[in-house]
Amino acid sequence: MESSHPETQLFINGAWRNSSNGSRLEILDPATDEIVGYVSSAAIPDLDEALAASSAGFDMWKATPAIDRSGIMRRAAAHLRDSADTTALHMTSEQGKPLAESRMEVMAAAEIIEWFAEEARRSYGRLIPARAAGVTQMAMKEPVGPVAAFTPWNFPINQTVRKLSAALAAGCSIIIKGPEETPAAPAALVRAFEKAGIPAGVVGLVYGDPAMISEHLIASPIIRKISFTGSTAVGKHLAALAGRHMKKTTMELGGHGPCIICADTDVKAAADLLARAKFRNAGQVCISPTRFLVEAPVFDEFLDHMTKAAKSIKVGSGLEEGVQMGPLANRRRVSAIEELLADAVALGANITAGGARIGSKGNFFAPTVIANVPASARIMNEEPFGPVAIINPAASLDDAIAEANRLPYGLASYGFARSARSIERLGLEIVTGMTSINHIGLGLAETPFGGVRDSGYGSEGGSEAIGDYQVTRFVTQRAV
Ligand code: NAD
Repeated sequence: MESSHPETQLFINGAWRNSSNGSRLEILDPATDEIVGYVSSAAIPDLDEALAASSAGFDMWKATPAIDRSGIMRRAAAHLRDSADTTALHMTSEQGKPLAESRMEVMAAAEIIEWFAEEARRSYGRLIPARAAGVTQMAMKEPVGPVAAFTPWNFPINQTVRKLSAALAAGCSIIIKGPEETPAAPAALVRAFEKAGIPAGVVGLVYGDPAMISEHLIASPIIRKISFTGSTAVGKHLAALAGRHMKKTTMELGGHGPCIICADTDVKAAADLLARAKFRNAGQVCISPTRFLVEAPVFDEFLDHMTKAAKSIKVGSGLEEGVQMGPLANRRRVSAIEELLADAVALGANITAGGARIGSKGNFFAPTVIANVPASARIMNEEPFGPVAIINPAASLDDAIAEANRLPYGLASYGFARSARSIERLGLEIVTGMTSINHIGLGLAETPFGGVRDSGYGSEGGSEAIGDYQVTRFVTQRAV
């Protein structure tokens, strides 16, 4: 296994290279605060080269038969799997999550590429019955054009691979603006495509100043589609920019996952499952369950199980054997969580597990359970994006559903219940893009992935995902 940490470069027109002005950014290990590596920071001339390459790459990739595109994608998946140990090590050193989670992310990404490689061959249009003899009416699905994709640091590969795979399957070229704090894993993903023989210009990878890059790429007439994963605030800003230039967009934004626990459920089993889901990746997950709304008769029991589960989690460096939760990915998250908890406690909430930073080196934060939080607290309204479970009693299922739908977010929701009527109500009445009932079942390659309302639009999974990278053109022709 390769042990030295790579210095991540830009990938432009089929070649890895430094920024034209030599600029680079430091990468900090969130477990040690030490500099673990560097990443090149693109300047405008680099972006212009990436754009020109992407334009030429699009012309070539669009004309490449779907079966050949699919073949390259399958080979890339195999190369990515081969790199799993090294890529996972680099991901953990930059992002903090336990090595096993990083490895799982790499393996899941390979599967996502394969699934989209299969879909590439089934990207059908349709024939529409005509009103006159001799007329053929065709609705054709075509790739929208070169894509600019902006991906975040919480799942360095997973958030990138979904956009990359759907775009390539549809026949688009893509420029990825990767996460500056966790650049090595997305670079390993792109390297897998390079090894698989992706033609120059079809995939570009840049890092740098996010605002400068997004403004430049979105305004370019070459780019026809924007895809972003990140906070709602930034998503709205980028969607507005895209709107100004009439570009199609996919927005995978923040959430504030409600999770309703009905009184008739197996409370311990639900708490065991949910504690794992909550503290995975230290809660830095857009679909993380966050507001636990528990029917009053089982409130104490659920709170007790979640508190015990949180206290039993082993926190430490993601590289250490047996560690279940690593540090937060950056110092911003530590101060954000501290502020949100202080505000909630001042308003009367009680912390039953964790609640504070661990040690003074690295961004370690104890898995936290906070109960009886008033709706006016900031943490009930802003996405905490960290290892905090908010547990509140609900007087009835009606009240729990009303609270679930109170916020403008609408990404993921969860529910646990036995009665068929309650299960049906959870599925129908919570307004989120994804709902998982009595199990944790979101995020598979073949299922839709995306939000509604302020959590964005478009899908990053399932057959819907390719459609987001296509346009429909209608041609009607009469035989003469
Ligand atoms: P942030 O809002 O500054 O950035 C979020 C992401 O957007 C980052 O990847 C960043 O590089 C990117 N970004 C910021 N400004 C940009 C711009 N002008 N153009 C293009 N990209 C831009 O916050 P942060 O501290 O990095 O992350 C914290 C918040 O972001 C969390 O509260 C969470 O809501 C959200 N977030 C969501 C996801 C997700 O999976 N949906 C992932 C990461 C972060």
